[in-house]
Amino acid sequence: MRALVYHGPGKKAWEEKPKPTVKAPTDAVVKVVRTTICGTDLHILKGDVPAVTDGRILGHEGVGVIEEVGAAVSNFKKGDRVLISCITSCGKCDACKKGMYSHCADGGWILGHLVDGTQAEYVRIPHADNSLYLAPKGVDEDALVMLSDILPTGFEVGVLKGAVKPGDTVAIVGGGPVGLAALLTAQFYAPAELIMVDLDDNRLAVAKKLGATQTVNSGDGKAVEKVMALTGGKGVDVAIEAVGIPATFDICQDVVTAGGHVANVGVHGKSVSLKLEKLWVHNVTITTGLVDTNTTPMLLKNVVAGRLSPRQLITHEFAFDEFVKAYDTFGNAAKEKALKVVVKTKG
Ligand SMILES: [Zn+2]
Ligand SMILES: [Zn+2]
Repeated sequence: MRALVYHGPGKKAWEEKPKPTVKAPTDAVVKVVRTTICGTDLHILKGDVPAVTDGRILGHEGVGVIEEVGAAVSNFKKGDRVLISCITSCGKCDACKKGMYSHCADGGWILGHLVDGTQAEYVRIPHADNSLYLAPKGVDEDALVMLSDILPTGFEVGVLKGAVKPGDTVAIVGGGPVGLAALLTAQFYAPAELIMVDLDDNRLAVAKKLGATQTVNSGDGKAVEKVMALTGGKGVDVAIEAVGIPATFDICQDVVTAGGHVANVGVHGKSVSLKLEKLWVHNVTITTGLVDTNTTPMLLKNVVAGRLSPRQLITHEFAFDEFVKAYDTFGNAAKEKALKVVVKTKG
């Protein structure tokens, strides 16, 4: 089969690999019909994730058709169309029992990281019963790919940990796919104001279409002043950090109001300086987290009901043999005006 394979920092190839087989009785092999590229894949290609070794097939998002199941898989059978979760979970260990699938003793984020991933014609999914979701009949499968990672990430780590409530003023710092996913799902809770902060005017325009009530271009370094002005000097109830650098975390610390929440979603490679001398006296809660994907069934129901439209995050589509081109486009997101790219087979 063909697959997108990592060969060390800066090197990748769309090449021939052996088709995966069922190794454990809890495994399923899935024929991938839709997948996408995540910002995390670009971090891996830069060499930022050393646990990913030469020869690894990348990708942790996708929709597919069950090709084969192990003897212990009871929820799925050959031919079922499924959503692949970015988080693999056994459903039985201590972490899974708490609903904290991201820290499953035999799973977590392993796809395209510690085991071969979804950017291939076939993928082996460990603990298939708990790590796959049946795709409802007639559902838009392109949109469904957005539920593998970015929708649950923006919702669980941004909106839920940030405790967005009706009437809140929310600032989202970073209008990439995950920031926009937080923007879409924050609207479940009817906040009064949704302020999107980003450097890129195109992303701000998209945010406006997806429900942002105000946008702030932070290119001039004055994001804090602008957000404070928009909130009458009060600041925001919830600041969601969706970039992962010290400068954007600082914006969140500086705009959060007394009793507010800073929900960090961004993947940080460097320490930030915590302004604890200011935060403690303002009763501010800071949260962090890795997505558990335990809200995926709820998000799926909202997509089916038409209350959540993740298709709006897809800007480009490619065929499987155009995978390298898809990476070039996603890697030049600002120039290409790319949000999520979907790579799909004809099937
Ligand atoms: Zn991802
Ligand atoms: Zn587990």
